[in-house]
Amino acid sequence: MEQIKTIRSLRAYVTEKRRTGSKIAFVPTMGALHEGHLELVRQGLKQAGICIPYIFLNPKQFGDGEDLDSYPKTLETDLDKLEKTGAQAVYVPSAADIYPPGFSTTVSVKGISEILEGAHRPHFFDGVATIVTKMLLQCLPDIALFGEKDYQQLLVIQKLVTDLNIPVQITGVPTVRDENGLALSSRNTYLSEAEYGIAIQLNKILAGMKPGNDAHAAHEKLKAAGFDKIDYCTICDAHTLLPPEENTQEKRALAAVWIGKTRLIDNLPVSE
Ligand code: AMP
Repeated sequence: MEQIKTIRSLRAYVTEKRRTGSKIAFVPTMGALHEGHLELVRQGLKQAGICIPYIFLNPKQFGDGEDLDSYPKTLETDLDKLEKTGAQAVYVPSAADIYPPGFSTTVSVKGISEILEGAHRPHFFDGVATIVTKMLLQCLPDIALFGEKDYQQLLVIQKLVTDLNIPVQITGVPTVRDENGLALSSRNTYLSEAEYGIAIQLNKILAGMKPGNDAHAAHEKLKAAGFDKIDYCTICDAHTLLPPEENTQEKRALAAVWIGKTRLIDNLPVSE
């Protein structure tokens, strides 16, 4: 597996692969890779032949007091996992290359970025939209894959690619879960055994949410399960993330909850 460290060498690699007729898939990650990330790589390989994941712990999507410093960093194991999964190359740019002195542009997707996650982490989607736009323009892949685990993020990225006419197909990949239904997340490593016992209730409570049965009941269940704080737990229109209307076809239950210092998010489609 080739390690690509600069924008120039990324562009050269992609140009060369294109010249030989390959399609390129791109998988953005912040490292600390688990089976969820690797599933994106597998899907990328299926859909495009060449898959280039990137690892970049993006400081711009962390707010003051969030877990940027303690975020797990496991580069050597990550590279090993990517190679075994079949990625032909990995992009590992330096922060200095990505955000040189004087960098002053922000990509901001209004509306969908301002609710749910955006309401609780106001810096977050600007950070994500800015880095993903930069990375897509650096690589110009045929497709880029994102997990449904971060469902709102997937919608934000679909919107920015449409609005900015970036010629990349955005593909969502279903959430990979452990044997207890807990959505895999790099942040799950923060959980103690007792906290894990609480965390595995989240997907079950989300699965029990039906249109019409109010979010209040789900909040009560989350509190009873031992979650310390609920940022939100609600059913939304799956396309706009606004409250569903009478004629809304597809709905999604989304939640962000805290156990001690760990914040977990998850979401599931809602069936009637
Ligand atoms: P992250 O490194 O947390 O920014 O995640 C990188 C990509 O992996 C994002 O598109 C996430 O949505 C996706 N991802 C994270 N966890 C999972 C999971 N459990 N299943 C599927 N995709 C995931």
